[in-house]
Amino acid sequence: MKFILPLMFMYAFAFTSCNTGDKTITTDSKLKVRTSFFDKTGMDTIIKPGDNFYTYANGSWFKSVVIPDDQSGWGSIYTLFENNQKNLKSLIENAAKSNSPIGSLEQKTGDFYFAGMDTVIIEKKGAEPLKPIISRIDSVKNYKDLINLLAKLNAEGNSHPLLAFSVDADEKNSSKYIPTFSQTGLSLPEKSYYTRSDSASIFARNALLGYAKKMFILIGTDNATAAKNADAILKLETAIAISHRTPVETRDPQKNYNKMSAAELQKNQPNVNWAAFFSELKVTPDSINIQQPEYYRALNELLASLPIEAWKNKIKFAYISANATTLNKDFRDANFSFSKVFNGQKTDQERWKKMITRVDEGLGELSGQLYVKKYFSEDSKKRMDDLVNNLQKSFAARIQKNEWMSDSTKQRATKKLNSFLKKIGYTSKWKKYDDVVIDKNDFFGDALSIKRHFLKEKVGKIGKDVDRTEWGMTPPTVNAYYNPTNNEIVFPAGILQFPFFDQNADDAINYGGIGMVIGHEMTHGFDDQGSQYDEKGNMNNWFSKEDLSKFKAKTGAVIKQYNAYTMFDTIHVNGALTLGENLADIGGLAIAYDAFKMTKQGMGNDKIDGLTPDQRFFLSFAQIWRLKDRDENMITRMNTDPHSPEMFRINGPASNFDPFYAAFNIKETDQMYIKPENRSKIW
Ligand SMILES: [Zn+2]
Repeated sequence: MKFILPLMFMYAFAFTSCNTGDKTITTDSKLKVRTSFFDKTGMDTIIKPGDNFYTYANGSWFKSVVIPDDQSGWGSIYTLFENNQKNLKSLIENAAKSNSPIGSLEQKTGDFYFAGMDTVIIEKKGAEPLKPIISRIDSVKNYKDLINLLAKLNAEGNSHPLLAFSVDADEKNSSKYIPTFSQTGLSLPEKSYYTRSDSASIFARNALLGYAKKMFILIGTDNATAAKNADAILKLETAIAISHRTPVETRDPQKNYNKMSAAELQKNQPNVNWAAFFSELKVTPDSINIQQPEYYRALNELLASLPIEAWKNKIKFAYISANATTLNKDFRDANFSFSKVFNGQKTDQERWKKMITRVDEGLGELSGQLYVKKYFSEDSKKRMDDLVNNLQKSFAARIQKNEWMSDSTKQRATKKLNSFLKKIGYTSKWKKYDDVVIDKNDFFGDALSIKRHFLKEKVGKIGKDVDRTEWGMTPPTVNAYYNPTNNEIVFPAGILQFPFFDQNADDAINYGGIGMVIGHEMTHGFDDQGSQYDEKGNMNNWFSKEDLSKFKAKTGAVIKQYNAYTMFDTIHVNGALTLGENLADIGGLAIAYDAFKMTKQGMGNDKIDGLTPDQRFFLSFAQIWRLKDRDENMITRMNTDPHSPEMFRINGPASNFDPFYAAFNIKETDQMYIKPENRSKIW
């Protein structure tokens, strides 16, 4: 699992309507010039800003917004994503019409898109494309055969259902790649779903039983046997789940670093047969990192102790489920019915939306070239460069002014800050997909060809120097990230748009929007995880002993603050799970504000839309995060997502920040009020 810190949850999105409340005028067919950058009508001014700033900024919008049936939530980010989907759709459809030669980027993206859109062919093929895999599993006699078969299937491009394999930077030697394995093997979002007795967990387990049963029926198993198979799968996954670390535990980079030799690994878990896995891939790695060894130890035991029939059913189900969206409608519907338990979507998305997402995931640096050519300007890049540099300066000044840190730690922090690699817009080195073969009439085969390509790319990295130009997100992505092993902050073209950023907006809007996002990503370099890596991206403590214990006490207070927040009256935010993101939000707001105060507008007092510059800055911040989630989606997020619910991504940082109190005249009697001496000021 690649360890990056994204700005937000990776929403499975695509959208149907737009309601940001902003006005646009069209001057020509291509270029829209926005004239209003803030949605005043979305506010609820009956609410006092000091009682609930998020609702004050977004309350009227919240009351009127309707989540489209095919969505798990709706808000600024979704709207932006929808626009990107539509833009990509027209680019890809035009590419397909261009009659470009076989192998060109237009042919590959266009034909892959239309292969997936051709549901007549897909329907006719039914479960046929999967049958060879199923019959190979059928012929297995014991777990040793099974593990050898999985190694073969993996090398053919079908991801291994029991070994979560990636090739990442070695966290203690960050210029070299190392094969990395993390815990896997579960169909439910995380381990507690298998053992908790609350109604949502029971419902989730029953949904898994129903889903697995349905999948077996669809490949021709009789009803009674299908139900029995499903039961065995749930039992087997429950046994696996016990060995898993909790989402909070997986946030500890030290505990996730367990480097060993291939020989040692093979000796530790002979039943897993690591040697077969690597030999099928034709690689002999020097060393390997096992992020969560407990899982692999349990797997080694369970392979030999559980009945082979249970394992065969588990593996069949894993492949069917992983390929369900490339098969005919019955498989897709069953897959949707299961996923909506966790995201709350009412209806499945239209085919074109899913295919656009698929092209972006599979061939993203091809379709991304079309995207940036049309939708990303060099002027935007220049403005972003300035913003990032200004934020870096204001962060440096904050480190110097810091009251709790010793000079030596300040020096190291500054060194790390000044070493950030900054990536804006899109990659400087587009990836090639020469080995990908796209046939308009073979969607399943196309998807496999893409998977094989990614595997080849991954395996090719083993033992090589880390390519620091590589991007972990495609250009149209509406997100951003910090990657600790590269010490880099990355902002894809997709997020450099309104409401986060607009060339023509005033500074309050841009600094409260994208400025906050930049500050957030920068602070990740100094959050509870990121701060464990030095300026070169190596896991290496650079705090003095005393400063580290002060830092831990301060982050402990933030955990406590967020633990007290609740959704649905009784479900508490997990302060430990969300700590890194909350620190990034708290730091990001402060850094963005300081940078804003260096601008002409920030230093002045001119009102726009009746708002002072400071009020406008904070309200812009509160409006970029407005989001209405379906309850099912929110509950899944609270169990698994390291980001707090949006309300607390606003109210948490604001309530810790003195200038917010001044901007809105917050009083001691207001609900968000925190005594000045108790406000968290870390960075
Ligand atoms: Zn983040």
